[in-house]
Amino acid sequence: MLQQTQVKTVIPHFYKFTRKYPNIGSLAKAKEKNIVKLWEGLGYYRRAKNLLITTKILSKFNYTLPTKIEEIQKLPGIGNYTANSLSALVHNYPTIAFDVNVKRVFSRIFNTEEKKLNFEQIKIFNSKKLFTHNRNGDFVEALMEFGSLICKAKDPNCNKCPLKINCKYDKSDEKIKEYRNFRIKLKKIDIFCFINDKKQIGLTKENNLGFLNNTALPKIKNRDISRKKNWKFLKNYNKYISNQKLNVNLYYKFSKKIPKKFKWYNLKENKEFVPSFTKNIISQIEGLC
Ligand code: SF4
Repeated sequence: MLQQTQVKTVIPHFYKFTRKYPNIGSLAKAKEKNIVKLWEGLGYYRRAKNLLITTKILSKFNYTLPTKIEEIQKLPGIGNYTANSLSALVHNYPTIAFDVNVKRVFSRIFNTEEKKLNFEQIKIFNSKKLFTHNRNGDFVEALMEFGSLICKAKDPNCNKCPLKINCKYDKSDEKIKEYRNFRIKLKKIDIFCFINDKKQIGLTKENNLGFLNNTALPKIKNRDISRKKNWKFLKNYNKYISNQKLNVNLYYKFSKKIPKKFKWYNLKENKEFVPSFTKNIISQIEGLC
């Protein structure tokens, strides 16, 4: 849940989720549509689906996580960072999970730009030096917290920092500049909504957009300048999703029929999962019916 999502957003969802599925065993028996429904509001639904697949895989191994990082990393949706975090937090393995905060801490301690550091080597080298106690999981978590609370991206709190004595950033007159490449891609799309007088919208799971795949959406196309025959233009707006800024032209038309692979959904309530991206569109066309 925490991948690409802030802690404060995750907390209520986490409680709701773990109340319903308190352990891996109960989750492994769940249906995907129920998991995705419960995930509503968190976005990035691929994570929910991967989580479910992972629990089903683990059910064959007595619901236990593999001990080796390479094995954990083979599970769906788990990359290097998550594998290292899990290994430390679940198995108390002496490793470092390099998230944005931890990378920044090491980059400052060496006063060297992140792109010039070999974090794998740092991990191997430090596994003997740093892990001299038996609380490896706590140590890994503390490193992340340290980066977020003390060695902050803006205004690091060097005066209170216990690492100050060894920190080249603090001592140096030529401090590294931090550069993060958060490039937002602009995409121009046209969204076409079939609506009817029963207050329904035609949605399909057949869009292939690179985001929200296999979820109920209106017809969406990359923008072209062709005339939108029979479609009425409703509005233009911007919507951010993942690292994309979508510039949307929203069109609609009243229709009794919808193409194959479309289904009618009620504008108000649906038992089937509808992503918040679609709900936002629905809220904009509701007044038309
Ligand atoms: S002294 Fe400052 S820059 Fe260095 S690790 Fe501590 S908080 Fe970060």
